[in-house]
Amino acid sequence: MTITPSLFEAFLKCPTKCWLRFTGERPTTNIYAEWVRTEHESYRNDGTKRLIANAPADEYAVAPIAENLKTAKWPLAVDVPVRIELCSSRGNEAQTSMSGTDQSLPTSAATSAGAKSTGESRLHAIERLPSEGRGKAAQFIPVRFTFTNKLGKDDKLLLAFDAFVLSEMLGREVTLGKIIHGDDHAALKVKTSALTAEVRKRVEKIAALLSSSAPPELVLNRHCAECEFQGRCRKIAVEKDDLSLLAGMNAKERQELRSKGIFTVTQLSYTFRPRRRPKKLRDKREKYHHSLKALAIREKKIHIVGSPELKLEGTPVYLDVEGLPDRDFYYLIGVRIGNGESAIQHSLWADAIEDEGRIWSDFLDILATVEKPILVHYGSYETTFLARMRTRHGWHPESNATVTMAVKRPINLVSFIFATVYFPTFSNGLKDITRWLGFYWSEPEASSLISIVWRHRWEESPSEVFKQKLITYNAEDCEALDRLKERLVELFAHVAKNLRGLHPRRCWP
Ligand code: SF4
Repeated sequence: MTITPSLFEAFLKCPTKCWLRFTGERPTTNIYAEWVRTEHESYRNDGTKRLIANAPADEYAVAPIAENLKTAKWPLAVDVPVRIELCSSRGNEAQTSMSGTDQSLPTSAATSAGAKSTGESRLHAIERLPSEGRGKAAQFIPVRFTFTNKLGKDDKLLLAFDAFVLSEMLGREVTLGKIIHGDDHAALKVKTSALTAEVRKRVEKIAALLSSSAPPELVLNRHCAECEFQGRCRKIAVEKDDLSLLAGMNAKERQELRSKGIFTVTQLSYTFRPRRRPKKLRDKREKYHHSLKALAIREKKIHIVGSPELKLEGTPVYLDVEGLPDRDFYYLIGVRIGNGESAIQHSLWADAIEDEGRIWSDFLDILATVEKPILVHYGSYETTFLARMRTRHGWHPESNATVTMAVKRPINLVSFIFATVYFPTFSNGLKDITRWLGFYWSEPEASSLISIVWRHRWEESPSEVFKQKLITYNAEDCEALDRLKERLVELFAHVAKNLRGLHPRRCWP
């Protein structure tokens, strides 16, 4: 088997993804995953051209032969193939093909599989610093291109994987690497030697995973929405009625249930036992019950705990914001004032980051025209937006006290749902819940990730098509919020009228 950066990167996200890439599984359609792939490729191609353009003529190499690296004279090489042997079938003693240093070897995979495995990469670039004196070797610095402005641990580990393969090949430590990333082509130096132990451990685990004849256990996770196998895995999980469909359940909770012989959502649904709460706990928030969520799903009914209330004393202003998290840039503020048919929608659009302050100011102006505005949103994204905008752009000089109050005390509908209203949906996401309530978006595939792709498409060639898609999607999010709030008010009123005293309450077929 050959462990490549593609497999290494996949393993960092999800063992199943690594396995599926290794076995050549065909990706299912995921617009976001496809966009990320093409962005990476084009950023790498552009980055390589820039490096070459800035290098003195004839002082760089393209795809040099790996075996000649030690005697290389060039200061820069691009697209450099490197390959090492990680372990062999000769016995339990794993070894690399060139370095011979036993401390660097993944071993357990070798002993378990007894199969030959190699580590391979095509380094985006290598910078070579000449020897600093007699007896001192030239220094090699692997370079990796990443199109995002923000970097995470996985980006550094991926570079460290390149450095690991290169150092094994050279038989000398590669202590430093460089990531060139983002819109400004910023260069980040990474001390790769500090990550070598972690890379080695992961490589060992990958080798063990891929030498097994059975695929790893399928567990849906946070990365699924960005993954090229999303459609395939979700289908299998639904067929298996797998516990990982419950988005709010963590690995520890799942493991505990499995140790009790509970493997499916349906099995879990039979474990829910309604209990009256002791008087002394009445004022405390009820804990979240995965078993009640499972019951709601099995029965296709909403369950409500306690006697919740949702009263808005003022005019509801539904807020939904679109942004590019990688740039910390908010480019579309959707505001829906009032309810139902008479509601008025505003869509505040920023062409560029310089316009963000203007749309924030327009937003405050709109709020100032509303009588006792009460901002209603869903989740933490808008909470963060409001806090950041206050810090970044401040208040409008004419912002009155009601505007200030609305911005400082928005109503997050999630807080009325979590551990209180159990919808028969696998997650508590706005789309899952409101789709179940019968609300649909014009673009069925619309999501926050797809909106990022649309915005980039619009930036590449500003056309009304993508701008309009985004404005419609955002306005429909606001409308979904309106519908959800209305339905919660109805549900809570229904509970108050009919079922006072029961706990928990099943109230909506
Ligand atoms: S869809 Fe999810 S579970 Fe499947 S491979 Fe991707 S990340 Fe893993």
